[in-house]
This record gives sequence, C-alpha cells and structure tokens, in this order.
Amino acid sequence: MDFWVTEYQTPALGFSCKTTETLRVEQTPFQHLAVIETEQFGRMLLLDGMVMTTDKDEYVYHEMITNIALNSHPNPKNVLIIGGGDGGALREVVRHPQVEKGTLVEIDEKVIDASRQYFPQLSCSFEDPKALVVVEDGIKYVKDRKNEFDIIMVDSTEPVGPAVALFSTEFYQQCFEALKDDGMLVVQSESPFYNANVIKQAFGGIKQVFPITKLYLANIPTYPSGLWSFTIGSKKHDPENLINKNDYDLKYYNEGIHQAAFKLPSFVRNIIEQGE
Ligand code: SAM
Repeated sequence: MDFWVTEYQTPALGFSCKTTETLRVEQTPFQHLAVIETEQFGRMLLLDGMVMTTDKDEYVYHEMITNIALNSHPNPKNVLIIGGGDGGALREVVRHPQVEKGTLVEIDEKVIDASRQYFPQLSCSFEDPKALVVVEDGIKYVKDRKNEFDIIMVDSTEPVGPAVALFSTEFYQQCFEALKDDGMLVVQSESPFYNANVIKQAFGGIKQVFPITKLYLANIPTYPSGLWSFTIGSKKHDPENLINKNDYDLKYYNEGIHQAAFKLPSFVRNIIEQGE
C-alpha cells in the first residue's frame, strides 16, 4: 500500500507526496517537526505540517533569498539570517566571496539538529569558518542592535507562532536600525496566489520603514502554488542593480534571473499597489 503525506496549503487544497520512509517526527518546544523521504523530492523537512525544504528543490529558495541582496549590495561583509535553521541560506551567504561573517539566529535548535542529521548539503554551512550559529528568538537578537549588519535576511516560517512578530512593522524598524546606513532587509513573503494578505503586510510594513521597497519572485515547486515572493527593503542601493558579477555557477540564480525576478505579473503588482 502506498503512503502519502499531504500538506494542506489552503483549507481546500492539499499537496501530497508519495513517502517511502519517515525519518523523524517530534514535537519541539516551538512546532511539530517531521523529516520524511519522498519519491519525488528526496528528503523533506516539514514544520507544523508545512514543507520547509527538500533535497530536490531547496536550491531555488536558498539561492534567491540570498543572492539578489548579496549581488546588489556593494560590500556585503556582515550578514544576519533570522530563522533558516536548515542552513541552506547560510550556505549561500558564506559561499559569497565578499561575505566575511554570516550569523544565523534560529529559535528552535531541534531544526538545526534535524538538518545536521538529515540534510548534510544544507547543514555543511554550520561548520564554515565565516559562520556563527545562535539559538535565540530573532526578535530579541535584533532588538537594540545598531548600525551592525550590511544585510538582514528573514528566512522564517509563515506568520504563525514565534514567526508572527517577524512580519510586523515594529520588527522592520528594528532591522532598519540594526542595519548600516546602506543596508538591505530581505524577507520571504509567501505566495501571491494564496497569501496576498501576507504580501500586503510585509511589503506595506517594509515600505513604511525603507526608502526603497521591491518585491521579486521565484518558482519553487514544493511551496504553495509554486510561485513564491520575497520583499526587499533598501536604505540606499537599488536591489535590481546587479553590481557583483560573481561567476560561481548556481542552479537557479544568474544575471538574467536577477533582472527577471522583479518583473511582476499584473495581479502581483496590484497586490503591492493596493496594499499601499
Ligand atoms: N524556507 C522556509 C519558508 O519559506 O517557510 C523557512 C525555512 S526555516 C526552517 C524557518 C525557520 O524559522 C524555522 O526553523 C523556525 O524555527 C524559524 N523561526 C520562526 N520564528 C523565529 C524567530 N522568532 N526567531 C528565529 N527563528 C524563527
């Protein structure tokens, strides 16, 4: 008999994966955590029943939440990642030639532990000499920090549980103050098809704080609807302006994608314009 795991992406829509093995299931102090082996996507991490990352398509999200800011900021030496306990975003950050320090602040050490055990291609970043891994609430970590980071990336779960406050204007203001005077903030801002409200909240909140606010997209097969958004706030530099042409070959991100990601379908443009 076949065994399928379903993520309910909306109350009326399920995303099901044929599953060959259950590797870990536990209730952490913050969320339900599961690691399964799927036929289509290889290993899959789920938190509270939502797909976080998979062997086969993790590169899209991790390359795109990092490289747009890393390659449009002139000198991205000091980068902070909030969330991202699987280590994929940190891998992309510490790989970047201009980065001197990548700090990852993850609230749930069980996520880090599960990644170490089941996702070596992501958790390899934890041992990088440029990397610092901190187990703490990102809200607390950012509070009262001033003029410290070139880029802050919020690689969080959707706005539930400990991640709710990561989508608040107050938090974006705290990030603004923790950033240097030409810093950038990137947040994952969910699906334009199913989560227009989250996009309005993130884009509208960042726009209240940053002089430059833009949204860009990527195609992630295992995320709700497959179309995913990121919102970027910048104190000075235009994130569409690719200035660091690094030649390391990535699987999704490249110079053309850097430009194309900002070209929005009309309905997505309307979401951010209505939200203003
Ligand atoms: N790529 C995924 C997505 O777009 O949904 C996110 C992956 S990553 C595993 C999300 C992480 O954010 C989780 O490990 C969760 O524990 C962490 N997180 C949620 N709220 C947090 C907070 N306030 N501070 C630090 N980490 C937090």
